Amino acid sequence: MKRLYGSSAREVETSLVEVDWFGSKLPVTKRQGVAQALENVRDELKAAPELKVFLMPSAGTFNWRKIAGASNLSVHSFGAAIDLNTQYADYWIWAGGKPGRVPHYNNKYPMKIVDAFERHGFIWGGRWYHYDTMHFEYRPELLAIAEAAGVSACR
Ligand SMILES: [Zn+2]
Repeated sequence: MKRLYGSSAREVETSLVEVDWFGSKLPVTKRQGVAQALENVRDELKAAPELKVFLMPSAGTFNWRKIAGASNLSVHSFGAAIDLNTQYADYWIWAGGKPGRVPHYNNKYPMKIVDAFERHGFIWGGRWYHYDTMHFEYRPELLAIAEAAGVSACR
C-alpha cells in the first residue's frame, strides 16, 4: 500500500484531490484511479436518490491512522477508503465486540450501494468477520483474485 499510495501522510497528501460527494468535498487519492473510481460510484448512485441518506454525510476518507486495536495502517491512511453515514453503521467494536467475541451482525445499508462500490473496485467492510458496514476501500486486486478463483465471498 505504501508503494502504491505513499509511505507517509505527507507523501499521500501530495496525491489527494477533492471528490464531490453529494455536495461535500472529500479528499481522495488520485493514484491508481481511486478518485475516478469513487466518482464512478457516485454517478451510479446518483440515479437512486432514495439512497442519499445512507451516503451522506460521509464519516471520512483520508486519515493517516492505524486500524483500531491493530498495528497495521487503515486504508484510510492512503486516501483510498470511505466511510458512509454512521447513523446506519454496524461496526463490531461499537456493537460491544472484543477480541475473540464478535457480536451479532446487522447490516442496514441497501445492497444496491454495496453492488455499486464492488462494481468499481471497492471491497466492503460489511463482508469482514470483524465487520464495519460503513467502510469501503479500493482493492480491485482482491476482487480480481476472487473472480479468478470463482468464489463469491468478495462479490
Ligand atoms: Zn473506514
